[in-house]
Amino acid sequence: MSLLEVKNLSTYFYTDEVVKAVDDVSFEIEKGEIFGLVGESGSGKSVTSMSVLNLVKKPGKIVSGEIILDGQNLLELADDDIRKLRGKDISMVFQDPMTALNPVMKIGAQIDEIFKEHTDLSKAEIKAKSIALLEKVKIPEAADRYNSYPFELSGGLRQRVIIAMAIALEPKLIIADEPTTALDVTIQKEIIDLLLELKNDLNSSILFITHDLALVAKIATNVAVMFGGKIVETGDAKELIKNPQHKYTKALIACLPQFTKKGERL
Ligand code: ADP
Ligand code: MG
Repeated sequence: MSLLEVKNLSTYFYTDEVVKAVDDVSFEIEKGEIFGLVGESGSGKSVTSMSVLNLVKKPGKIVSGEIILDGQNLLELADDDIRKLRGKDISMVFQDPMTALNPVMKIGAQIDEIFKEHTDLSKAEIKAKSIALLEKVKIPEAADRYNSYPFELSGGLRQRVIIAMAIALEPKLIIADEPTTALDVTIQKEIIDLLLELKNDLNSSILFITHDLALVAKIATNVAVMFGGKIVETGDAKELIKNPQHKYTKALIACLPQFTKKGERL
């Protein structure tokens, strides 16, 4: 059985006109798999991920479909139940770590909050767990960094903090929405390597959202290509990049970086 089944999901925005941001989208993610969702900007990737968490805000609305996690339709859960499930069963890593962190709260305290909300551990136990998490995501001098504010960290370290928070409760599914888009290329690679390592550790699945088809081909098992709110092509990641069927997939491949004769990226 799949870990997550998205069935005929449609999410519309009721602005001056009705925008079909997600239009009859279906896909399945297996346990332990990295599933790539790719598409150009505005194709509906982020609205899909927000829909999976039932976090779409007005003027947006999920108008139809099912989001089935481990056999349970998340769209039928009460607000309280879905809130408990977020972070615990499904967590999220966003593009911009600065907006995901509270700028006036030390990072240690922000990680502590997760354990306070979801466990009965003592204050000392929680602090120890938070520092261990910072070590797990390879933040140097973790015990000192526990007392840092977000602005005192580099972009790469901030994204590591976000990843620490995302894995704190060992979720079944991590949704990573363009997790490295805002970072330098060298830092991007470090963050991807870290995500892969942690995924293997936890045996979580990852819904990896990006506009970078080359990256997806490298890390994902299966991939779906979105265009204009619809999935236009789906299949094995490596096959799809080798043998694209749809013109938008071909267009995404045409945008892949070109290489010089020495193999350096132009
Ligand atoms: P992306 O693939 O870049 O993540 P999004 O999922 O963020 O794209 O957005 C898909 C489409 O949904 C956008 O092109 C836009 O038309 C619409 N949309 C997203 N958020 C809103 C909003 N708050 N209000 C109106 N339309 C929105
Ligand atoms: Mg997006």
